[in-house]
Amino acid sequence: HTKSLGRGRASMFTPELLAGASNKFRIEQDLRRAIERNEFELFFQPEVGIEDLQTQLVEALIRWRTPDGRYIPPGDFLSVAEESGLIMEISDWVLRTAIRAAAEWHHGPWPQARVAINVSPRQLLDYRFVDRVRELLTEFDVPSHCIEIELTESVLQTGPATVEQLRRLRALGIAIALDDFGTGYSSLSSLEQLPLTRVKLDRSLIESIDTNARSRSIVRAMIDMCNGLGLQVTAEGLERAEQFERFLGCKNLSLQGYLLSRPVAMDQVFTAMAGAAQRAQELVLLSNPHE
Ligand code: C2E
Ligand code: MG
Ligand code: MG
Ligand code: MG
Repeated sequence: HTKSLGRGRASMFTPELLAGASNKFRIEQDLRRAIERNEFELFFQPEVGIEDLQTQLVEALIRWRTPDGRYIPPGDFLSVAEESGLIMEISDWVLRTAIRAAAEWHHGPWPQARVAINVSPRQLLDYRFVDRVRELLTEFDVPSHCIEIELTESVLQTGPATVEQLRRLRALGIAIALDDFGTGYSSLSSLEQLPLTRVKLDRSLIESIDTNARSRSIVRAMIDMCNGLGLQVTAEGLERAEQFERFLGCKNLSLQGYLLSRPVAMDQVFTAMAGAAQRAQELVLLSNPHE
């Protein structure tokens, strides 16, 4: 009996798994150093209103710049950060840095500045989260309407306490966006259960909006449904002019994607916003009317 258990165990530790584990350990060590030495940066990507063609908000996206000058995207380190608990410190840095950026813009060149901040389910499980947000808004003198919190449906799996925290955020006047909608196990009931102000349609949903009539119908119906619920909508990951055209005439809709602007460093934000507005205007002028 013991022997078979031993054998079973031994076979679990395949070379791949061991390599994976040591890789994870290395990333974790590197992340600790990154926190100590401040190797993170926030980039910002505009979301452009389809009606006024202006940037309505910018989404803050974390970047890790290693000492050798490489940028590591969040997809490559956030899961390790989550598992190791380092996400709490990193997330607090994101929150503080994003709110400080909002303050700088709001009190300076962009009074209407709005900044969207991605938060992990684990962050929302911390009952101090709402107080922390309120504290930072006070510290930097930022009105709550300048901030939007982005979360994914996975928060619903963490229980009623997180939904209660979201209600408290809403009560403070902070906007709440449901990110990556239309992926995985997306369910319409989350639109009912979460106190949302915006839905962000995932890139995979709008990928073939210009080439596939069924995909187009689905996206249009979703936008109508969200509008009917009083929600703003953002379409994520727009890369082609042909996709842009298909959204003309929609209401309460913002577009985000490389087509209009890549995420940029803080000192590039106004250049990126101007570029996105100009690109959007050109696209409207060049557009062919559909249906
Ligand atoms: P997300 O919140 O859905 O962010 C959108 C992602 O799509 C970003 O990737 C952005 O750079 C990328 N993107 C934007 N436009 C396009 C496009 O036209 N084409 C393509 N292919 N991609 C586009 P990024 O920055 O690598 O972030 C990936 C994910 O990591 C984010 O997805 C978000 O879930 C998470 N994340 C990023 N920053 C933070 C953060 O500060 N805190 C937390 N908790 N999560 C973060
Ligand atoms: Mg997001
Ligand atoms: Mg998203
Ligand atoms: Mg996404």
